[in-house]
Amino acid sequence: MSGNEAIAMAAYEAGVTVASGYPGTPSTEIMENLSKYEGVYTEWAPNEKVGLEVAIGASFAGARAFATMKHVGVNVAADPLFTVSYTGVRGGLVVLTADDPEMHSSQNEQDNRNYAYAAKLPMLEPSEPAEAKELLKDAFELSEKFDTPVLFRITTRVAHVKGVLSKGDMRKSSAVCGIEKAPAKIVMLPGNARNRRKIVEERMAQLTEVAESDTFNKVEPGDTKRGFITGGVAYLYVKEAFPEATVLKLGMSWPLPEKKIKAFAASVDELFVVEELDPFLEHHIKAMGVECHGKDLIPNQGELNTSIVRTAIDPDSAPVLFAPAELPMRPPNMCAGCPHRGVFYNLSKMKDIFVSGDIGCYTLGFLPPLSAMDSCVCMGASVTIAHGMAKALGDEGKGRLVSVIGDSTFVHTGINGLINSVYNDSRTVLVILDNRITAMTGQQNNPASGCNIKGEAANAIDLEALCRAVGVKHVETVNPHDIAECKKALQTALALDEMAVVISRAPCVLLPEIKNAPHNPYSTKTENCAGCMACVKLGCPAISWTNITSQEAVAKGYKEKQKGFAVINEVQCNGCGQCAALCKFEAINRKGE
Ligand code: SF4
Ligand code: SF4
Repeated sequence: MSGNEAIAMAAYEAGVTVASGYPGTPSTEIMENLSKYEGVYTEWAPNEKVGLEVAIGASFAGARAFATMKHVGVNVAADPLFTVSYTGVRGGLVVLTADDPEMHSSQNEQDNRNYAYAAKLPMLEPSEPAEAKELLKDAFELSEKFDTPVLFRITTRVAHVKGVLSKGDMRKSSAVCGIEKAPAKIVMLPGNARNRRKIVEERMAQLTEVAESDTFNKVEPGDTKRGFITGGVAYLYVKEAFPEATVLKLGMSWPLPEKKIKAFAASVDELFVVEELDPFLEHHIKAMGVECHGKDLIPNQGELNTSIVRTAIDPDSAPVLFAPAELPMRPPNMCAGCPHRGVFYNLSKMKDIFVSGDIGCYTLGFLPPLSAMDSCVCMGASVTIAHGMAKALGDEGKGRLVSVIGDSTFVHTGINGLINSVYNDSRTVLVILDNRITAMTGQQNNPASGCNIKGEAANAIDLEALCRAVGVKHVETVNPHDIAECKKALQTALALDEMAVVISRAPCVLLPEIKNAPHNPYSTKTENCAGCMACVKLGCPAISWTNITSQEAVAKGYKEKQKGFAVINEVQCNGCGQCAALCKFEAINRKGE
């Protein structure tokens, strides 16, 4: 099982009955797998704040509740997270953060151990799937015993690595479901919150004593010449790089066991703290007055691996065996037949506009040859950044500011930005790229899809009606595969002196019903190709370009100055027709036409 599958099984065995999350790599498969277990209510939330609040509500009702998200999602959920630290829980509540060192699919590389410190919450951190399964079950018990939400941190490697594990015992919540009023505990007006503030400190002191126990933080004896303090996946790298060394493995990364750390430091000749990303442990260990090596040797950016750890600490003895394999680079690209391409192609042809982008597959519109995205900060920020620019630029920005957002991201946090733009009289154009799914994370449904987490029919948001309801007067829906129609809609919207919305609607080509449907691909009549490259500029991976010399051009019957010709790979082509609309030389036709 992968770490994510193990965590889903653990949540089930822990007696979780309500779970909510927002898809985000590397956490997505947890909710997908948990939704398959009987007796667990699961849902995709429109964003992480909503997901956490749903879990908090379930906990207040006495159920064991689970909220999952990726690291940047915790930023969205931070508001309720910091306050639920004060209210505590009834049924056990665990919040999972899946951090992404190396930014495999993220816009930043934050280290969410800092959230445990800042929000005054205990954090547990497994190193591999089997440990993740046991530790998650312990997390729910810790939550109920100490009346606290527990942060559970994994990283990309832990989420996706496979391990062998088996079914375990089923556990039960000590709470009983039902309505129980406890206003002094869960109504956080200042008088109550001040009282709870003291309780939070007392709780953290008690949890520090728990951290001193061997349950979560274990010493693995070995050669005491070098001692390592580590946790999470970095523990595995240390064990592989220095199998003979003594190790203090921290399964609880906050609060830290000061007595245990000091005793461990005194037992070794030289102390090394090995951790990915921030010097979180190192700073707190040094603040205890303990000398150690850490980020003076180990990189503070990107993922670690066995080779990096061994080379950083003992460069002369690092065996060749640890050298990482050199793999060819594979640049990301939107799929062949992706509906977003039609919108970005049109935007790339519009001069003097600024495209404020968002997070999703369509962020790839930034890459050449389209190069049609000028900023991308975080989910939902496309709309608000375009609005802010419009206010700063005044008349200079009129007809030049476009924001681009996906359907899922619009529902996540784009709606608020649109409301703000209408309310504050924005003169920008919002393009909602509605492909009916949360595509980049792997086809999860969202409130605009018409299906729930299990794929069953659900109420779907009417995006046109919603935009009109918040006050947008001009809302036009287009088929992005129709390049000319899409261009006209964008031009019309940009010419207006008011907030306008263009909804670009066509399904993602990876949806099973599209992927498995019979394809009617296009093919190139290379003898007609004039080498204009209009189709190549779409950036479709099904279209390749072959360079030729002037002699080869003449031999093929082309003009001498023709530099090459385009060829469509019919196996890859999804038959969207965008390239055919651009070819003025009848060199691209449906196969057989
Ligand atoms: S029709 Fe053209 S643009 Fe569309 S998938 Fe096929 S090759 Fe790509
Ligand atoms: S196939 Fe058509 S659009 Fe593509 S390069 Fe040749 S002539 Fe130009």
